Amino acid sequence: MNEVSLKGITKSYGAHLAIPPLDLDVPKGKFVTLLGPSGCGKTTTLRIIAGLEQPSDGELTLSGKSVFSGRNSHFVPPEKRGLGFIFQSYALWPNMKVDRNITLALQQARKPKDEIQERLGEALKKVQLEGYQDRFPSELSGGQQQRVAVARLIAARNSILLMDEPLSNLDAVLRTEMRTELKRLSRDLGATTIYVTHDQVEALTMSDIIVVMKDGVIQQMGSPYEIYHQPSNLFVAEFIGDPRINLFDATLEQRDSRSVLHIGEIEINLPHALPQSSGPMRLAIRPERLTLHDAPVANSLPAEVDVVQPTGSQTILSLTSQGNAVTVLIPRFVERWPSRKVWLELDAEHIMVFDSRSGQLLQTTGGPIRQENAA
Ligand code: ATP
Repeated sequence: MNEVSLKGITKSYGAHLAIPPLDLDVPKGKFVTLLGPSGCGKTTTLRIIAGLEQPSDGELTLSGKSVFSGRNSHFVPPEKRGLGFIFQSYALWPNMKVDRNITLALQQARKPKDEIQERLGEALKKVQLEGYQDRFPSELSGGQQQRVAVARLIAARNSILLMDEPLSNLDAVLRTEMRTELKRLSRDLGATTIYVTHDQVEALTMSDIIVVMKDGVIQQMGSPYEIYHQPSNLFVAEFIGDPRINLFDATLEQRDSRSVLHIGEIEINLPHALPQSSGPMRLAIRPERLTLHDAPVANSLPAEVDVVQPTGSQTILSLTSQGNAVTVLIPRFVERWPSRKVWLELDAEHIMVFDSRSGQLLQTTGGPIRQENAA
């Protein structure tokens, strides 16, 4: 069942159409991330779901109940939608101590005192803030304040959680910790979570489903694995992945029921045929699917090593090959590459081909996507 459902939702600001008709179904219990560059409409979409923003038109249902309908101007205000929020700024009440910040909504809902105390204790324990209930937010670190916001969600026991860039104000170490925390929270509560970020690492690590948006339009909706390995167009391919995906101009030829790609001087026989098209294409390959050699091997391009950047467990190599900037990711610490002139082997199994005009991914014949991580 879909817990959140948007049908033909639009939002205009004056003459500016921020969200063209948008359809989005979020299944119950899933962690769904809206991902995209600044201005793509992810916050507006979340605020519409929250009721903080009124759409211009369309239909919105939460847990099967209509909360907005453009047909009869039906609009349920945010406080009656039964949602939990965490936003970028922690939105704690500065004049209230931690315990009151966590339980205010429960008190307003006139829950019995015993139950409020029980939920407060449980929430403080879950976020490891036992003993902090008598402090004001100003007496806590940024990470602790964010954990109070999380505790408030735990205590409220909402079945739908909305989070807008909740980690962006935290330092790198805390962000990684809180990422784990929020993922665990969502799982433990069995909640449906809609999470907004422009950070692809957060999206890939936390989500069951990623929705990639651009200019208010959904470019692709799929599992992190699908989004990374089968991006539906060049925008998604380039937006996801750090270091970025490598792109080359290529020409596709159909020869004796095989698909052959020409890149510069070399020819690559694709293991999965792409029979529908031929002509100029964009070839894309992830940096970890390129291997360096000192001498030519099959499916390899000549290249020159430019910069070597070890990051600890991995090394990023920047190269040039036939006028293209190329990035290679090596899963170990390399200080210096021994020779400047190398050969770059492309793993044909992991080459993606995009139509150079439409930018759409060419589909292979019938082959399911490679699930190398399947048990
Ligand atoms: P960011 O990551 O920068 O927050 P976003 O993807 O969340 O970006 P939105 O904030 O949803 O994007 O904005 C979508 C579009 O709507 C943008 O073009 C933005 O300028 C516009 N917009 C958002 N809020 C308003 C407003 N109150 N008035 C006018 N235009 C707005």
